[in-house]
Amino acid sequence: MNKSTITLLLRSFRSTEGIAALITGIFTLIGWSLSFTNQVPLVLTNILIITGVFIGGGVIAIGAVKGLLRREFNVDELVMLALAASLIIGEYVSAALVAFMMLFGKVLEDFTAHRATAAIEALGTLLPDTVTRYAHGNEQRVSLSTLVVHDTIIVRPGERIPVDGIILSGKALVDEAALTGESLPLLKTEGQKVLAGTIITEGALTIKASAFGDKTALGSIAKIALSALEERASVVRTADKYARFVTPGVLLLATATYLITGSVVNAVAVLVVACPCVLVLATPTAIIAGVAAGAKRGLLMRGGSRLEKAAKVDAIAFDKTGTLTIGKLQVKKVYTIAKNTEKNVLMLAAKAEHLSEHPFAKAIIKEAEKRGIGDTVLQSPAHFRSFPGTGVSVQIGNKNIVVGNQKLLEHLKIKIPLAATKLLHNAEFSGQTGALVAINKKVVGFITMSDIPKMEAKNTVAILRKAGITRIVMLTGDAPAIAQNIATAVGIQETYAQLLPHEKVAKIKEIQKEGYTVGMIGDGVNDAPALAVADVSIAAGISAADVSKHTADIVVMSGDLTKATEALLLSRSTLTIIKQNLWIAAVWNVLALGAAASGMLSPAMGAVIHNVGSVFVVINAARLVHWTPTL
Ligand code: ADP
Ligand code: MG
Repeated sequence: MNKSTITLLLRSFRSTEGIAALITGIFTLIGWSLSFTNQVPLVLTNILIITGVFIGGGVIAIGAVKGLLRREFNVDELVMLALAASLIIGEYVSAALVAFMMLFGKVLEDFTAHRATAAIEALGTLLPDTVTRYAHGNEQRVSLSTLVVHDTIIVRPGERIPVDGIILSGKALVDEAALTGESLPLLKTEGQKVLAGTIITEGALTIKASAFGDKTALGSIAKIALSALEERASVVRTADKYARFVTPGVLLLATATYLITGSVVNAVAVLVVACPCVLVLATPTAIIAGVAAGAKRGLLMRGGSRLEKAAKVDAIAFDKTGTLTIGKLQVKKVYTIAKNTEKNVLMLAAKAEHLSEHPFAKAIIKEAEKRGIGDTVLQSPAHFRSFPGTGVSVQIGNKNIVVGNQKLLEHLKIKIPLAATKLLHNAEFSGQTGALVAINKKVVGFITMSDIPKMEAKNTVAILRKAGITRIVMLTGDAPAIAQNIATAVGIQETYAQLLPHEKVAKIKEIQKEGYTVGMIGDGVNDAPALAVADVSIAAGISAADVSKHTADIVVMSGDLTKATEALLLSRSTLTIIKQNLWIAAVWNVLALGAAASGMLSPAMGAVIHNVGSVFVVINAARLVHWTPTL
């Protein structure tokens, strides 16, 4: 146990339950030890122990009453019954142990939660307190909290970047592991985004701050991860649901024990042993540990039932652009049709794409900038229209500019001249995608772009197959020839091309109807609806800053596809641990019940044995925190 673990354990004891557990424990220990000295009258030692029972029991009683008021049965009621029965038959020490152990179980649960929370909060506390602000040619060390948006800061080698921002100047290797789990530092230069919490390993950067604290990508990660932990509450409630069956069952068993053995003590031992603390701890501790393990590896997983679903995924649908491919397209060539200049076509296309987030748009704008025709600030964004999955259009003055694929032009009733069709086919044949550019319903040019599969794409597909994902499909809005090209390169046999966002949805539903549990891996561009209908949605490749906007079940911060596989494997491991825990709980309880009913366990021993089970379950779950993928 290292220092922080101990601090956390102490923190867990600082709750009502923790304090009650301590008081009950101390009173009982003192009373019980004194009873051996034969110096103190038994009445006094018993009063000490009973006081402990009442303090601990009181806290549990509040929970029981709250439950009853809500007309819910929870385990607290069963515990109260065991307490009362033990007191009545004079088994004071067992009553105290039951109270103590029950409360201690809650402390243990808090502890695992705190540990997970701490792992996530550690992300935030990584930030330095002071930064170097640069203004009017002067550098000044100021407190991070005094910075405002658009302030310029300088970050030097070894320092952690304290804000989200844009690089104004400089070149540096930036280690983003804290956010993305990506272990290799990335080279970043002017104009690129940097994120709070990342470290400059080499070089220095001048950065214009754009977001602080909660508003940073780091802040949103912490928020999402913490809310996943809160979801454990609902899982605990599920465990409490068992109480509805367990309570009457246990009562029946206790009565039967009394009727058969004629021993009240045995019946009480049964009551004590049967409190399903182990059952209550089994699931939430595993989920908490799983979520924490994910956070450590750059995976944001929303907890609860969705984690269980992720473990059952047996079909994966991939988006193409930006998911299987790098999505950082490069303009290869600008073709002109009729008497337009390359420059003109590119400039107009860049204007039209100005507000689009699509990788195509970014490529076109970048190329325009490269050729020095990039500052084409859009006059009126109101006249911008995006056609998801096909392209964009914009009205500038008397010019209507359309940039998109064949489908969009057909939709807008723009005739595609033979020359353009030829270019289109040639490009597709050589594996390049392209966008047609039309002005006032006349095609004026064609811009070809190339995109390549992510380095890990092929391996990821292979690993998924090995992991028993029997159905792997690719869904794309791109043309069939290009889709096929990429699919072959990464080893996917089943592809569907030229799909609009709603057609991607239909395809996923179709696969679900065939009985598959479908996981959709996408980048959030034109595939958000598909992500939403999938059983498990995995966002890979969306920019970290957008995380909060997306509601994906699993977010792979780095966009590294192997991490998506990791997420599935981790959820499987979590489910395995949950199942193991439930088995441990069941077997342990049955054995202890048998022993208690037959009189082999005194009520006091029962309380102890019973809670050894709780500790097992917590330790078993904690194994997940250090999880690494194996296949
Ligand atoms: P994918 O499914 O492969 O991720 P999308 O659904 O994002 O692809 O886009 C499908 C097709 O729509 C693209 O291949 C492109 O032809 C066209 N398209 C979408 N957005 C744009 C845009 N902003 N500019 C030009 N073409 C676009
Ligand atoms: Mg996409």
